[in-house]
Amino acid sequence: MAQILLVDDDKFVLKVLSKLIKEKIGIETVLVMNFEELEKALKENTYLLSICDYHLPDAEHGEAIDFLIKNKVPTIVLTASYDEKLREEILEKGVIDYLVKGIPNITDHIIYAVSRALRNKKTKILIVDDSQADRLLMKKILKNMLFQVFETSRGSEALEILNKYPDIRLMILDYYLPDEDTVELIYSIREKFKKNEVGIIVVSGVIKTNMIPVLLKAGANDFLSKPFSKEEFMVRVNNTIEMLDIINELEFYAFKDPLTGLYNRRYFFEEAPKLWKLAKRYGFKLACIIIDIDDFKKINDTYGHDIGDEVLKDFAKHLRNFFRRESDLIARTGGEEFTLFIRYEKKEKLLEYLEKFRKYIEENILKITVYLKDLKEDLKIKYTISMGVELDLKDSLKEMVIFADRKLYESKNKGKNCITF
Ligand code: GH3
Ligand code: MG
Ligand code: MG
Repeated sequence: MAQILLVDDDKFVLKVLSKLIKEKIGIETVLVMNFEELEKALKENTYLLSICDYHLPDAEHGEAIDFLIKNKVPTIVLTASYDEKLREEILEKGVIDYLVKGIPNITDHIIYAVSRALRNKKTKILIVDDSQADRLLMKKILKNMLFQVFETSRGSEALEILNKYPDIRLMILDYYLPDEDTVELIYSIREKFKKNEVGIIVVSGVIKTNMIPVLLKAGANDFLSKPFSKEEFMVRVNNTIEMLDIINELEFYAFKDPLTGLYNRRYFFEEAPKLWKLAKRYGFKLACIIIDIDDFKKINDTYGHDIGDEVLKDFAKHLRNFFRRESDLIARTGGEEFTLFIRYEKKEKLLEYLEKFRKYIEENILKITVYLKDLKEDLKIKYTISMGVELDLKDSLKEMVIFADRKLYESKNKGKNCITF
């Protein structure tokens, strides 16, 4: 089990951090109070990273940090005071970052630094710079921050590398590249990758100030003048990555239904027409299927809204398990209404599969234990579904949905728990 090592001679600090890291990040910690204990702890175990106090009673001048770095334990340093010289000395050691104990909300900063570092381990960054010295310098800083680093000296290779590793999140781009026009390069990257897919920080030694807005407008996320301080570089990189994460999270929730985790109505009506067009052009078959839970209002009325929510989650789980092809588009398009847009070859096969699903739900029993004060009750809930299936591409996606909806209505009129196609 991976652990984080906490090194501080203040018992209270250790306790608070240990509890917070467990609560907020879900990782266990090992606590040590001096250099002697630290040596022992490193012999006994390996660690994801450590948070280490600069001053320890038996290692007053940062020896614990040197020891951790020597043993390849990525380290976040805590110092008691802010001191310009000390700060440079600490960063030179190759630590992830350092934090001053006295600042407001220090624990928030520590938790942020730890979770950032853990995410950095999974984050890829590409350096594009013709100067080997600059590349080396930046690479060293980024590696200390635990990023996975790729590099190239040639602008013309940048796009190729991004295509090969589409999960690269950030590109550090030198403004002066002998083989490439930077603005053109940014344009061609932005044709394929949005600002929240690949961040671009342009770095440059000499640049006319009027070029900076041009680069930013072309699609760079940030700009940094060379030579820069190690710390400014670190902060800019962290900020850009953080911004990407926030935007991506927002985008994720804008398209997902928080209750079931399925795509929402908005996403469905954005993506399904694209699929429809592809099917029309390439001549493959798509079915639009609308599924509605039968007598759902009764479930709410009988058991309460919370249990109704559990039924929706249960249904979404089975839906996901049944329709798991990459090409399947599944969304919660209404309260207890779900729409599927599914590629198929033979209509008999598809209908057979849908019938199997209908039957599976009919036989499924959702077990929920509810507690009412001292009373415990085991609920066994059964529910059924009706479907409307449009197998024909029609003249538009909208039209397919209208037809599927009519067929769903027919299923309801026929007595529910059935499929109309
Ligand atoms: P039918 O068999 O004809 O589909 O009847 P029904 O009761 O399932 O359909 P109706 O449209 O009358 O009622 C659907 C109910 O679903 C009404 C609404 O309050 C409830 N509902 C919608 N969204 C949610 C939700 O997120 N959670 C819960 N618990 N209920 C919801
Ligand atoms: Mg250059
Ligand atoms: Mg219903």
